[in-house]
Amino acid sequence: ITLPGTSSGLHIVHIAAEMAPVAKVGGLADVISGLGKALQKKGHLVEIILPKYDCMQNDQVNNLKVLDVVVQSYFEGNLFKNKIWTGTVEGLPVYFIEPQHPAKFFWRAQYYGEHDDFKRFAYFSRAALELLYQSQKKIDIIHCHDWQTAFVAPLYWEAYANLGFNSARICFTCHNFEYQGAAPAQDLACCGLDVAQLDREDRMRDNSHGRINVVKGAIVYSNIVTTVSPTYALEVRSEGGRGLQDSLKLHSRKFVGILNGIDTDTWNPSTDRHLKVQYNANDLQGKAANKAALRKQLNLSSTNASQPLVGCITRLVPQKGVHLIRHAIYKTAELGGQFVLLGSSPVSHIQREFEGIADHFQNNNNIRLLLKYDDSLSHWIYAASDMFIVPSMFEPCGLTQMIAMRYGSVPIVRKTGGLNDSVFDFDDETIPKELRNGFTFVHPDEKALSGAMERAFNYYNRKPEVWKQLVEKDMRIDFSWSSSASQYEDIYQRAVARARAAA
Ligand code: ADP
Repeated sequence: ITLPGTSSGLHIVHIAAEMAPVAKVGGLADVISGLGKALQKKGHLVEIILPKYDCMQNDQVNNLKVLDVVVQSYFEGNLFKNKIWTGTVEGLPVYFIEPQHPAKFFWRAQYYGEHDDFKRFAYFSRAALELLYQSQKKIDIIHCHDWQTAFVAPLYWEAYANLGFNSARICFTCHNFEYQGAAPAQDLACCGLDVAQLDREDRMRDNSHGRINVVKGAIVYSNIVTTVSPTYALEVRSEGGRGLQDSLKLHSRKFVGILNGIDTDTWNPSTDRHLKVQYNANDLQGKAANKAALRKQLNLSSTNASQPLVGCITRLVPQKGVHLIRHAIYKTAELGGQFVLLGSSPVSHIQREFEGIADHFQNNNNIRLLLKYDDSLSHWIYAASDMFIVPSMFEPCGLTQMIAMRYGSVPIVRKTGGLNDSVFDFDDETIPKELRNGFTFVHPDEKALSGAMERAFNYYNRKPEVWKQLVEKDMRIDFSWSSSASQYEDIYQRAVARARAAA
């Protein structure tokens, strides 16, 4: 292990809107803690900056306390004080910024979905940079994530570098190009960015709407731009880029796709305290016990122990292929399996639609829809299920298919984005046999999904020995952050070396 401060140990700061398990909405949260821990293990000094949300899980922070400093940051022509809290989360040092601003930006009982999200996160990005600037630390890499903290890249190079705070290099990771943070150009001024300088085609002006686009700004202004899988990195260079394809092509030399890992401490069936019984690939009895217990808990039929259980854990948004998820429920019933969905939707008509389906199956002892967010229950469902469906329309990386495999649940996924980089069809003879780990389909329609499900059910029902070997193989695949963190380490080191050479 190299200690921070020695030649190869870097000082890396992540600025993000989420971190598991204190403030989690989706995969971004898992990445911040998983990548952070992996980099720390490799000997780097890693720190995280988050907003101090009222709704975050304070009990997941060790030694949470207010620092005896006040950081003032710029917003809409004035300076506002920020309380700075510190603590450790999963062994990582975290700074939480609590703005003393009358709009109570992070005191809204939810993470996202407020009318002033653009301002809330513009404020946070500015305050986070201000905290780093005032701390006078010598940081090597500032890593920002998604549109919420994409402001950091132009702010750093346009506002802070001139103040002599310029030793760091900026890495921006886009976890989903669907969310770009577009707004009327003048809104950019709130955090002190110069609209006249930035509202230009080659800087932050959106490629089609004439608004400004924060993700575009981060693509232009960062030293390194990444996204979360190699296939998605290709897809976003064309239609998947949602209008940013030309910007990505223009900056393709600094753009790379790195597949996310999963946090193999959090997601470990042999130590997982959320499970009824822990188990591993050499002892699948425990897995069966979790299945039996979940069936009982959810009032599902348990007459036939080998009736396959299909799981799905997801945000219910169009990206995730909600129409195909609905189809999978009916198809599972038709094939004689059981289905458990754990999902919630920020979109009210989708939430209502699934409430309707849940009611429809209320008295059916093979189908259960749980329309909520429940981390503990998610662990149990991964452990209890035999198969796991992810029929996404697009999927930047996707973590649930990897978690499912680690828990011995065989994934059935649409071949897109990170799913294409992590799930390889069991029947595809063009792929080396040892890599084949699940079932995939290409066309985003019911027929294609049905075909993949039928093939999976066939193996499960007719070739239990083959199935068991597949389950064991999936559980042994290395989905840890180790190799992906090495790729980040490598691009960080190269950016830092270029910076040093330039200085
Ligand atoms: P996204 O970031 O698009 O939501 P990912 O697959 O990258 O999708 O990450 C999803 C993460 O959120 C996984 O850790 C998954 O277990 C978790 N998750 C999604 N929905 C729920 C839910 N309803 N309850 C608990 N955990 C959930």
